[in-house]
Amino acid sequence: MRAVVLGGGIAGVFTAYFLRRLGFRVVGIGGRLQYPLARLVLTLSMPYEDDVELARRSLEIYSELAEVEGVTSVDILPEGVDLSRLRIPHEVVDTVEGVRLRPGEIAVISRDYLVPVRRVVAELRRELGFIKAHGRLKVVGDAAHVIVNGGRVAGDIVVLAAGHMNRQLAQEAGINLPLVPYDCYAVICLARRRLWNYSIGDYVLGWYGRPAVPPLYIIGNGCGRYCGGVPRGYASRLARLVSQRVGRVIPLAVRAGHCEVGPHGGPLYGKHPHVKNLYVIGGLDGYGGMVGPALAERLAALISGRGFDDAYRLERYADAAAFDPCSIVERHDWRLALKTQYLNTQDAGPRVKKARENGTGFLSRPPDVY
Ligand SMILES: Cc1cc2nc3c(=O)[nH]c(=O)nc-3n(C[C@H](O)[C@H](O)[C@H](O)COP(=O)(O)OP(=O)(O)OC[C@H]3O[C@@H](n4cnc5c(N)ncnc54)[C@H](O)[C@@H]3O)c2cc1C
Repeated sequence: MRAVVLGGGIAGVFTAYFLRRLGFRVVGIGGRLQYPLARLVLTLSMPYEDDVELARRSLEIYSELAEVEGVTSVDILPEGVDLSRLRIPHEVVDTVEGVRLRPGEIAVISRDYLVPVRRVVAELRRELGFIKAHGRLKVVGDAAHVIVNGGRVAGDIVVLAAGHMNRQLAQEAGINLPLVPYDCYAVICLARRRLWNYSIGDYVLGWYGRPAVPPLYIIGNGCGRYCGGVPRGYASRLARLVSQRVGRVIPLAVRAGHCEVGPHGGPLYGKHPHVKNLYVIGGLDGYGGMVGPALAERLAALISGRGFDDAYRLERYADAAAFDPCSIVERHDWRLALKTQYLNTQDAGPRVKKARENGTGFLSRPPDVY
């Protein structure tokens, strides 16, 4: 069986990798490899067990291919948050050296991993013989193929795995996908030594931070208009917000990156309902490095006839209504669990109760710094 994979990022190369292991002949087509950061963070501290399971499996996959480095994970949350589903080794504290916690806030300390995703993906692309070219998806009747440099590249199956370009490529081929692209931003800054070993998720103020090469530290957040560029004054506003927690950080450079998300705030994979040989993997949004390899493995299993139904199957969302990606909280973000808890439970902590009484507080949208 011959598979054509369009897109050579995490989703595309890992799908190609697992398909080849299952005996497929794979033709990979990948445009420019562009990662905003050399190493991505992989965390197991997420509110949904199925995401944690994917991240755990991805970590195993990466560990076979590259060295991953452990860092201290600091998740800042309001007290009263339901951590009963957090089944990884962790500690709950109310002080963290070098990080200012306010009354009513806690920190969950666990282990995150820095993965050299850019290098892993580049090496796999070489090994799998990806063609460096721009491809177009074409659907004729109920079958898909790819056009590269004016020529037709056909396969028994076609996998669309082009990241934020998925939707546009599908639309140009006359089909729909329940995936929407958006922009998010990262700022490289100078930070105090204490931070260099911390991977921070601040779910109260709404930002993340992770080590780069000392003394550089990366901070980010945001969801903005696709290809809209970095909003004016974004870096200094974000730096001011982060300084409230960790003391002064000095912004040096800012980058916008393109992401994509599904209607449930997470990734999707599966078979397109109207095109008999087309499979899709996308919507990896802000945590594709964490769940991408394991999701690609599931897609390869599905293609080879050994798939199963799970929360990420594209077929479940085929008829989803149009949605605004910036109104959705991503699945890996503890604010989603907080929102559900806030709406559903009576046993919240005092600040959550106060927020509920006031209709404000933690569970409203985090401060917009963009
Ligand atoms: C600033 C920032 C920080 C992030 N930090 C993290 C993190 O710490 N941890 C984490 O897990 N995730 C992180 N992410 C998210 C992660 O980068 C994405 O989820 C992931 O890259 C998505 O993988 P993908 O393969 O679906 O898409 P992409 O990485 O976008 O890859 C798609 C590939 O397809 C190619 N392509 C597109 N169109 C075509 C075409 N027509 N023909 C041929 N090729 C094409 C592109 O050139 C590209 O190489 C971050 C994202 C951003 C923007």
